[in-house]
Amino acid sequence: MRTPPGVSAADFSAALERFATAVGKEWVVTSDEDLDLYRDSFSPYWHEEEDSVPSAALAPDSVEQVQAIVRIANTYKIPLWTISTGKNLAYGGSAPRLSGCVTLDLKRMNRVLEVNDKNHYALVEPGVSYFDLYRYIQDNKLKVWIDPPDPGWGSPVGNSLERGGGRGVLHDHFATVCGMEIVLPNGELMRTGMGAMPAARTWQQYRYGFGPYVDGMFSQSNFGIVTKMGVWLLPEPEAYRDGAVSVARHDDLIPFVETLAYLHNSQIVQGTTALDSPLLNYRVSKGGGVVDLPGDISVAELERIGREQNIPYWSIPLHFYGPAKVVDLQWEYTKEKFSAIPGVTFKDGRSYRFPLEPKDADTVPLPQAFGIPNLSVFGLLGRVEGHMDFSPIIPFSGEAVFEALKVFGDVYHEMGIPPRNQFISLPWTFFPRAFVFLFGFPIMHDVEFNKRNREVFRRMIKACAEHGWGEYRTHIAYMDDVASVYTYNNHVLWRFHETIKDALDPNGILSPGKQGIWPKHLRKSRA
Ligand code: ADP
Repeated sequence: MRTPPGVSAADFSAALERFATAVGKEWVVTSDEDLDLYRDSFSPYWHEEEDSVPSAALAPDSVEQVQAIVRIANTYKIPLWTISTGKNLAYGGSAPRLSGCVTLDLKRMNRVLEVNDKNHYALVEPGVSYFDLYRYIQDNKLKVWIDPPDPGWGSPVGNSLERGGGRGVLHDHFATVCGMEIVLPNGELMRTGMGAMPAARTWQQYRYGFGPYVDGMFSQSNFGIVTKMGVWLLPEPEAYRDGAVSVARHDDLIPFVETLAYLHNSQIVQGTTALDSPLLNYRVSKGGGVVDLPGDISVAELERIGREQNIPYWSIPLHFYGPAKVVDLQWEYTKEKFSAIPGVTFKDGRSYRFPLEPKDADTVPLPQAFGIPNLSVFGLLGRVEGHMDFSPIIPFSGEAVFEALKVFGDVYHEMGIPPRNQFISLPWTFFPRAFVFLFGFPIMHDVEFNKRNREVFRRMIKACAEHGWGEYRTHIAYMDDVASVYTYNNHVLWRFHETIKDALDPNGILSPGKQGIWPKHLRKSRA
C-alpha cells in the first residue's frame, strides 16, 4: 500500500476505513492497477521515479460526501488532489502535483442541474462532461450552444477552472463562469456571487454579488473544491460564415495584427483563430521527396519565393456568428478594414444556417467551433506518445510576434534543436486582448528524450520571463518553475496566495503545490 507523504500506514488505514464509510467501499480505490488510471498518460517523467502516482482515489456522489471526505482528511492530514473528469492532458491529466495525494475524483457528481435557453446558462456538477451537457441540450431540444474545448471529453467545471479556451464565440471559458458552490478546506459549504443569498434568483445571471469578487480565487487554485458551477451558453445563432485574409510581405504582419485587434476588440470577428504562415510552412520538392525550407533562409528570399509561387507570408481564418444579414455585413466590413494593407487578398469561406442539417453536421470541418464536442484532435498527435503544452501569453501585436519568434528560435538554437524555417509555432486568440502560443512539446516513452525536453521547457520559461511573457497555465511538473517567474515586488502575489492558503487550509490538505502554492510545512525557501 502506498501512503501519502507524512502519513503513517496506521493512520492511512484508519482514514481509508472512514472514507469507505463516507462514500461506500466500492468508491475507495487502492489497487495499483486501478490507481494507474489516475497517472498522467502524457507524463514527462514516464519510467522515472518522479512520475506522480496517487496513494488512493475516492469517488463521492454528493456534496455531503465531499464535505465528509474533507473533514476526515483534516483529521489525518491527508492531502487530496481534486479532479472533475481528469482529462487535463498536456497539463498533468489526472495526476497530482504531489505524488502520494489521494485523488478526489468527482466524476460521479455528473448531474446537469439546469439549462436555461431563455437567459442562456447552465448549472452543472463537476463530473458533467461537455459530451453530457451537449447530449442534455439535444435531448431537451434547447436552443443553446456549449463551447467545448478540443477535445470535448473534459468538463465545463475543470476546463473553466483551468481557464481553458474553446473555438466559438464564448472561447474564454473562465469568463463564462457565473456563480459557484465550493466546499472550503474546513468542510464548510459556500456559494459565491448572488448564490450567497439563500433565496437567490439570479445566481447564474449576475456574477459579482456584493463585496469582493472571489470566484477567480478558486480557478487554478487549491483554496476549495468546486461542487457546482454556473456557465453561460450561447443562444443558438442563426448563421455562420468564415473567410480568410492573407498578406504577402513579412512586415505586413504589423498592420495585419493591428487591424485584427481592432476587429476582435470591437466584437466584429468572433471565436478563436490562429495566425498562419503559408510561406513558412511551404515545403519544397527535393530529390523525389518534400522537405522544409532551410531554417536560416532570409526574409528577402522567402518573400521572393512567395511572389513567384503566389504564397502569402501571413494568413488568418476569421469566423462570424449571428443573424445571416449581420454576418455578411461583418465579413464585408472586415474586408474593408483590411483593404488598407496593399496587396491584401481575401478568400470567402463556408457558410451555414442553424440548426445544422444532419448532412452538414457530419461535414463541418471543426465541429467544436459549432458547439459540438468531439475527440478528433487526438488524430493530430501523430507518432508521439503524448505532449505537454508550453503556453506563454504575449501582446497582441505583430512586433511581439516577431520578437517571440526570435526569442524562441534563439532558445532552440542554444539548445541545439534545428530551427524549422525560424518558425516554431504561431499564436492563437483563445483569450481577448492577448495572444497565446501553444507549443506541444512531445512526450515519448524514452527517458533521455523527455529529460532533454524538460530542459528546453524550463529554458523557455526563463527566456519568456526575461521578455515579460508568462505562461497562462502549465503542466504539474513546471508549476513551481512558472510561479517563480512572477516575481514583482519580491513575489508579493505568490506570498499573497500563500497567506490565503495558510488562513483557509492550515493543514494543507487541498491540492498541495498546485500552481506553486504549497502549504507551510511543504514550502521551500525561495532564492
Ligand atoms: P477536466 O474535467 O476538464 O478533464 P480536470 O478534472 O482534469 O479537468 O481538472 C483540471 C484541473 O482543475 C485539476 O487538475 C484540478 O487542479 C482543477 N480542478 C478540477 N476540478 C476541480 C474542482 N471541482 N474544484 C477545484 N479544482 C478543480
